[in-house]
Amino acid sequence: MEYDLVVIGSGPGGYVCAIKAAQLGLKVACIEKRETYGGTCLNVGCIPSKALLHASERFHEAGHHYASLGIKVSPELDLPAMMSHKDKTVKANVDGIAYLFKKNKVDGYIGTGSIEGPGSVSVKKEDGSSERLKAKNIVIATGSEVSGIPGVDLSFDRDTIVSSDWAIALESVPETMVIVGGGVIGLELGSVWSRLGSKVTVVEYLDKVLGPMDAELSTAFQKLLVKQGIEFKLGAKVTGVQKHEKGRASVTFEPAKGGEAETLDAEVVLVATGRKAYTAALGLDKVGVEVDDRGRVAIDDHFKTNVDGIYAIGDVVRGAMLAHKAEDEGVALAEMLAGQSGHVNYDAIPSVVYTAPEVASVGKTEEELKKAGIEYKVGKFPFMANGRARAMLATDGFVKMLVDAKTDKLLGCHILGASAGDLIVEAALVMEYGGASEDMALTSHAHPSLSEAMREAAMAAAYGKPIHI
Ligand code: FAD
Repeated sequence: MEYDLVVIGSGPGGYVCAIKAAQLGLKVACIEKRETYGGTCLNVGCIPSKALLHASERFHEAGHHYASLGIKVSPELDLPAMMSHKDKTVKANVDGIAYLFKKNKVDGYIGTGSIEGPGSVSVKKEDGSSERLKAKNIVIATGSEVSGIPGVDLSFDRDTIVSSDWAIALESVPETMVIVGGGVIGLELGSVWSRLGSKVTVVEYLDKVLGPMDAELSTAFQKLLVKQGIEFKLGAKVTGVQKHEKGRASVTFEPAKGGEAETLDAEVVLVATGRKAYTAALGLDKVGVEVDDRGRVAIDDHFKTNVDGIYAIGDVVRGAMLAHKAEDEGVALAEMLAGQSGHVNYDAIPSVVYTAPEVASVGKTEEELKKAGIEYKVGKFPFMANGRARAMLATDGFVKMLVDAKTDKLLGCHILGASAGDLIVEAALVMEYGGASEDMALTSHAHPSLSEAMREAAMAAAYGKPIHI
């Protein structure tokens, strides 16, 4: 078969690129080595974790907050039914991609893709047969895999020392869980199991959770998680993870700055120390595609590798490992390959932690502005002073706007609070248009809504004073 474009990998980067290119008139194929399309995100990442976060949050609310709303219930956990909700959500989403491929006339191939040379890709199928596809252009969108920690093999254990792939599929609620890594994935899945009854302890190397997140937000967020019952060992360097008999494991760690080692026992250890680019079986050596010092496919500003006709996007290249960043790159590259001018604004990509409350961030943090020597103003507003948040019993957290001290241009927005993941989009849009906090302050926001906290924080930044505090 001969194509304008062959995409290897069907995650948010690959499938979006394939569909967009087909919509722009190119003849497109997309190869996927899993049984289903959708990549990490739809199969074992964003979607299943959000299904479990939603269900476990409802369970926890029913047991802890409904009484305050005048609703008497005694919730009982049915874990298999909760997992079935997650599985059905995943199936609906991955089936959706197969449908979209058909609708947009993208030829989907299930099998492992490898690049034979510029313009040629082979697909090795499960039954051992293979097929060769000719392509004017090839896009590598093979994503990432769990990076783990040295000496711990996460590839086979499904219930004691696990990666996120299996922490979304445990068959019972562990009494105790130790999570190595206080990043987004560790805290989201830690929240799930903590709400369902596990005693969760997070061991993190840095002195704060959520690594690059604005420090004020990260500290306030961690305090709320402690209130929810999650324990933290910060500034702790893990030196060993060991599996014991009878389904138990232990994690040994010592203060990162030096000091005495400590060991924690647990029924389940979740290793959530990050992910790394996945390029196995692609045949990059054979065609001479270069990778950077972190094993990521090296690309220029137009997603092109050092080999003509071969491009790469998503988790397998530099930048944030986020589904929407991969999607944005997929769209931009498809537009470029169709002769248009695609663009991704990396300064306005939001990132969200889907815990309760949610944490969301776009643009620069205060620490980054200080480091860059940029003069800025801060506008803050607490959800405690927002009428809708009070009605929802969702008063934890605040909105923080960071604006240029001279021009009022919005440089960053950081939100801790209910629906932060949806609220952040307003700030991303203002940043995309190069707008100022006064633009937000002058925009009508529906009352009563959580979004009024955005407007009030913008007022605080623009005029030094919000109305409601
Ligand atoms: P992937 O989604 O990794 O897709 C790559 C695909 O390529 C895979 O299906 C793989 O099987 C296939 N492949 C690899 N090699 C070959 C080959 N040789 N031939 C054929 N196919 C191949 N991001 C968010 O933005 N929001 C979230 O809430 C979020 N939650 C997450 C939760 C978890 C638990 C995890 C693990 C990740 C989460 N992420 C989230 C990150 C998100 O999943 C990734 O950023 C996103 O999936 C990257 O998309 P991609 O297309 O680059 O790669």
